[in-house]
Amino acid sequence: MATTERFDFSAFDNGVGNSGFGFAHGPGVDLRPQLPETTPDLIGVDLTHRIDVADVAFAAAAGGASGKPGGGGGGGGGGISFSPYTTTASAYNITIEFKGGSWTQDLHDVFVSAADRLANLIVGDVQNVNVIMKGGLRLVDDILITAELKNIDGAGGILGQAGPTSVRTGSYLPATASMQFDIADAANFFAQGLFDEIVGHEMIHSVGFGTIWSYLGLVSGTNFIGAKATAEYNALLGDGSAAGVPLETGGGSGTAGSHWSEAIFAHELMTGYIDAAPDPLSRMTVASLQDLGYQVSYSGPIDGYALA
Ligand SMILES: [Zn+2]
Repeated sequence: MATTERFDFSAFDNGVGNSGFGFAHGPGVDLRPQLPETTPDLIGVDLTHRIDVADVAFAAAAGGASGKPGGGGGGGGGGISFSPYTTTASAYNITIEFKGGSWTQDLHDVFVSAADRLANLIVGDVQNVNVIMKGGLRLVDDILITAELKNIDGAGGILGQAGPTSVRTGSYLPATASMQFDIADAANFFAQGLFDEIVGHEMIHSVGFGTIWSYLGLVSGTNFIGAKATAEYNALLGDGSAAGVPLETGGGSGTAGSHWSEAIFAHELMTGYIDAAPDPLSRMTVASLQDLGYQVSYSGPIDGYALA
């Protein structure tokens, strides 16, 4: 997709700027998202990052699915077609479009619930933007997320890929995002009660967590330095001394630099590894969305969270 080449990824040296296409995956499987055209209002970007089943620590610890069966796993047809869903919980509207032929009511509902939750945390309208993509011109108010279930490599291996596919000029807030999951892994994680955590985590990346930080100058060294999130971290510490929130340094590109530190924040939702449920969504994560420029609500569905 030539549009990928239009954008200078050099601002994304932290590794989240590209999606690991170089990693081995099944022949013929193209994980690249469709990128909108760059216009004066919008920059088409590929800020998606690949997610591996191994990033779900609970599954790995349980010995689940590290192999790579040759088959495509379940799915690939016979699923339900769903109309797009748009949140109405607040002035921040999230539209989810469901692509692929493997949707079940349960998997659909996970995305709807995650979007509803996020629309209760991000509550302020963001500037509408016209997006030119395959299929024509779309007016996006406020973010369009394409959710896709597809056969990637069967159970184990690649879980999927998610992140923004365009950002607004000026604010850099994402206008479109792509969330793709391997149907076999989605079904397995749903059965384990973890798919909601995974989708919630990836949807927060899709609105900018860890993906647009470089644009906004919010990372210094291995810390996230947004004032609101830093204040929440200091509240968790109780002593108010930290200059930033420690970020993950391990795990390679796509994990390091774009998540809270697993060593410090353990099971919080936005560390680089999904742990056994529950994975609480903290005030600190909501505050980090405020640091991106969103209007947020702290009376929304935030979980209780304390440092271990
Ligand atoms: Zn992540």
